[in-house]
Amino acid sequence: MKFKDCILPSIGLLAVSCTGQEKRPNIVYVFPDQFRCSAMAFWDSPEFAGAQPWVADPVVTPNLDAFARESLVLTRAMSTCPLSSPYRGMFLTGMYPGRNGIYSNCMALRPENTLRPDAVCISDVLSSEGYECAYIGKLHAEVPMKNDPANPGSYVSSRNPEWDAYTPPERRHGFSWWYSYGTFDEHRNPHYWDTDGVRHDPHEFSVEHETGKALEFLRTRDRKRPFFLCVAYNPPHSPYSNPETDCVAEDYALYSGMSLTELYRRPNADTTMSKAPSAREYFANVTAVDRGFGRILEELRAQGLDRNTIVVFTSDHGETMCSHSVDDPKNSIWTESFNVPFIIRYPGRLSHRTDPVLLSSVDIMPTLLSLAGARVPETVEGQDLSAVFMSGEGERPEAALYLRNVNGEPDADGLYRSFFPVARGIRTAGHTMEISVKRDFSLDGIMIFDDLADPYQMHPLPREENPELFQTLCAQLRKKLEESNDPWYRDNILDKILEQI
Ligand code: CA
Repeated sequence: MKFKDCILPSIGLLAVSCTGQEKRPNIVYVFPDQFRCSAMAFWDSPEFAGAQPWVADPVVTPNLDAFARESLVLTRAMSTCPLSSPYRGMFLTGMYPGRNGIYSNCMALRPENTLRPDAVCISDVLSSEGYECAYIGKLHAEVPMKNDPANPGSYVSSRNPEWDAYTPPERRHGFSWWYSYGTFDEHRNPHYWDTDGVRHDPHEFSVEHETGKALEFLRTRDRKRPFFLCVAYNPPHSPYSNPETDCVAEDYALYSGMSLTELYRRPNADTTMSKAPSAREYFANVTAVDRGFGRILEELRAQGLDRNTIVVFTSDHGETMCSHSVDDPKNSIWTESFNVPFIIRYPGRLSHRTDPVLLSSVDIMPTLLSLAGARVPETVEGQDLSAVFMSGEGERPEAALYLRNVNGEPDADGLYRSFFPVARGIRTAGHTMEISVKRDFSLDGIMIFDDLADPYQMHPLPREENPELFQTLCAQLRKKLEESNDPWYRDNILDKILEQI
């Protein structure tokens, strides 16, 4: 550790000196894709009774259950824009899409929709403070470019339009240990590019392979430095229709004999949908992720790193899985899509409890940096919730913002260089509200739910019968839109809608 590389923490959370920087906490951040909050068995155990107003899915998650019992468990962590790439942009930068550059999923037809190369990411900060940063798994934060290391001038994907991407070293934002890809959905046939840009096709179930890589990093890391390890599993993301290719037999066997009635405990689920049997493969991959996460925890334990490592388990967004009869598994304000797991363990600093604090995706970076005693860059737009995490005290957000964007009009080349902000909404302590517009910005619909009395969101509250509630929710939404400098604030879209009704 060179002296010049050593930056003292800006807040006095930790007694850290330049000679003792190895005592800075490590951070392990595990985030599978499309893992919904209810897909954890512990919610239905007596210890967690009443923490959620809904029932857990019938899943087998022994490692998450044990982890939750020694962690701070958030009940209302929300994925602001419940899609892969926008989530990753907000997690990595602490900035909303307007500033970080990612308003929708990254793919070649959206050439400007990509992580800003000059954005200050959580990994930029931590690497500048001496951390060894590793990224394993799905990145999906970069527009595909013709930069295949093995075939210069070509995309890495043969699909058209291109989705998968290779991230060259100069765009890795401080991650010096790399084993990643853009986006690719064959769970038993994954591929990756390593630190040196070499492609690997291991023909192994991706969760098991990436867990092995995480253990390899933990065993070969620079032991003089603290580390930041991100593991971004793709399962339980789709595909989930074929037990031979989409999951592992031992996990599928846990669910294969269950009837649809047994698989679906939520009364809002439409088990007549053709997708309904997919719950078996989906839950199988929930169990696979649980097992991979358990192996990472065991390695931390074996190396004696438990106490000085912040461990987070979360997801980029949820999965509707037949609720509300919708086909889209994500990108909606329904609780199944919007509410994500967020479980954080930091022994000696965070006590075990559940907490209903409304965590938004942009709050993750400042909160983690603060917990680690690192500086929070001025570019961050999210709120540092470390005080709430540590003591339960501190300012709590009134609401979590929800964003849904769709493609704008294509240009002459068929490329989408803008987006249309089709819906905005919020989740508060007790309610969910979404307002959506048509292409001419006229009102399309307003949905309001009482999430405590109606946790499955089956009985929308008519705004005409709840004028005070509607006004309060609109005021809270306006405040969040202003905070995030959203188009609905900048272009007065919300006010124009309210004038129409
Ligand atoms: Ca995703």
